Amino acid sequence: MPVDAPEMQAALLGWYDAHARTLPWRTPPGDGTPPDPYRVWLSEVMLQQTTVAAVIPYFARFTTRWPTVASLAAADEGELMAAWAGLGYYARARNLIACARTVVRDHGGHFPSSEDGLRALPGVGRYTAAAVAAIAFGCRTVVVDANVERVVARLFAVELPMPVARRRLAALAETITPGERAGDFAQAMMDLGATICTPRAPRCLLCPVARGCAGRASGAPDVFPVRAVKRARPRRHGIAYWLERDGHVLLVRRPARGMLGGMRALPGGAWGEAAEEAPPVSARWRGLGAVEHVFTHFALTLAVRAAEARSDEPIDVAGEWWPIDQLGEAGLPTLYARAAALVTAEKDAIAA
Ligand code: SF4
Repeated sequence: MPVDAPEMQAALLGWYDAHARTLPWRTPPGDGTPPDPYRVWLSEVMLQQTTVAAVIPYFARFTTRWPTVASLAAADEGELMAAWAGLGYYARARNLIACARTVVRDHGGHFPSSEDGLRALPGVGRYTAAAVAAIAFGCRTVVVDANVERVVARLFAVELPMPVARRRLAALAETITPGERAGDFAQAMMDLGATICTPRAPRCLLCPVARGCAGRASGAPDVFPVRAVKRARPRRHGIAYWLERDGHVLLVRRPARGMLGGMRALPGGAWGEAAEEAPPVSARWRGLGAVEHVFTHFALTLAVRAAEARSDEPIDVAGEWWPIDQLGEAGLPTLYARAAALVTAEKDAIAA
């Protein structure tokens, strides 16, 4: 069943009138008091990348210390940065003061009331401009944060995976945004996403817009928004040979180009689809198991084999005999240090 926009809007706004979250930067629905653009803007900047619970005490401190945009514009930058400490993403704090100063200097201390005007202010991105324009000035803008994306993806059962779906979700959000009460609608969508249409286990039975929700009708609303399938890392196999002689182990240098390029390593062939290769020297090789290692683009299973070389046996491998009791100083990469640890564990087991 397609979403009936007027019906959905009426149901959502009715729910918001009864259940809106009480937040210090909000005016309750039906209150009749116009929201203060300064408080709306400040809250939206603080809420970027930060949870509502974390923002509330900061918002209280900021609005007590700097109750107006003019007072914030006149703030000492060091004091403002100190007050922001702990909220993270410090570029936001620097933009905050730059924006407040621009509003005072260029706009007589009044925030522009259009989305475009807001967008031109320092540090005000597309989302913040849309949110402030809708909430503080009642403009019909399309306000899409992560909560709204999730609700829209479910309402319309959007199969397109994220992040490719983002434009489609914004276009669909536009189709359900009402001309009236745009600010309340935006906040209602945020509240719905935060309290009912939650990332896991959406509470469809309590949802005011369940009628006509395609995600709910699908029986598995929580699969939306669809995540892009991560490609499984391919697996490669290799062998590391621990060849020991007179308290020393043979180490080689890996080729300068390629994985672990130029680093010391145990001898071994190329890593491929199967670990099949002739050992570097003929000896009585014994298998000690394998170490698993994950590189950015593939996972590696490195089998470890060990043998003793006779003192008089010529070894046709370009390498160096490294004292085993000083192996910690060889600078082996983790992969080979773990292979060496397998050998040490075997020796310890035999000695025990
Ligand atoms: S019915 Fe369920 S999936 Fe659909 S919007 Fe409501 S909570 Fe989300």
